[in-house]
Amino acid sequence: MRAVPRHRFVPHVTLADAYDDRAIPLLAHGTATTSSLSQPTMIAQMLELLQVQPGMCVIEIGTGSGYQAALLAELVGPTGTVMTIERDADLAARARRVLESLGYTHVIVRAGDGTRDLPANVRADRMIVAACARDLPAAWWAALESGGRLVLPLDLGPLGERCHAFTYDGRLMRADGPGIPCAFVPLVTASPASSEDDELYFPSGTRTIPARSHGATAKSIVAMPRNAADRSILERADLVVARPETLFAVTLA
Ligand code: SAH
Repeated sequence: MRAVPRHRFVPHVTLADAYDDRAIPLLAHGTATTSSLSQPTMIAQMLELLQVQPGMCVIEIGTGSGYQAALLAELVGPTGTVMTIERDADLAARARRVLESLGYTHVIVRAGDGTRDLPANVRADRMIVAACARDLPAAWWAALESGGRLVLPLDLGPLGERCHAFTYDGRLMRADGPGIPCAFVPLVTASPASSEDDELYFPSGTRTIPARSHGATAKSIVAMPRNAADRSILERADLVVARPETLFAVTLA
């Protein structure tokens, strides 16, 4: 983090604000912030969870300012690859310019929908999402190498929004622990599901709905594509959150 000049990614704020441990809004539509450079502490926690090694291929969804992409470039080093995707074309162009001017020429910036437009030939060792997801789109399952890690803010209904680190075994993704509470801008998807669309199942039948306010937390989460569901895992879960593409089988703490 000392290696990357954060202020260059947010020229619209003062130097003091750029290095304060706070999020910095980048873009708003009406009263809602749609892009925001995350708080440094949050970014550091997520990058620790990601466990990036030199030479790896990393995909970032949600380029925003490009700051986190620069940190990823430092972590993968000159032999690694960082590919970052941003849905807002102006933000993507701006981030590309700043990254190039700082010499991060091995960062590939794309404008597009990171839930769909991932290049078919890329297999990432690591994926990090900088906006809050409610589902794991098919494109992410396809882009992640077996043995890879996916770190993202995930809104799992009654469990609230938390940052989780999933490991992928080629079939399922598994995250251990409660995750880190967070508040990201929402990931924009082609078919935005509202919370009314949550389908919750309680396979064991021994639990009641853990309301957000009761602070229910996960001990572990197993994610599986809906079209490749593992029945025995679903049946053993305390709670299953069913989203259009992914089933999340949750064991509660
Ligand atoms: N990592 C950024 C912060 C990004 S904020 C940084 O270091 O500055 C989250 C970003 O995700 C926003 O810019 C938003 O436009 C983008 N985003 C939201 N949904 C997206 C999608 N489906 N595909 C790509 N980008 C998306």
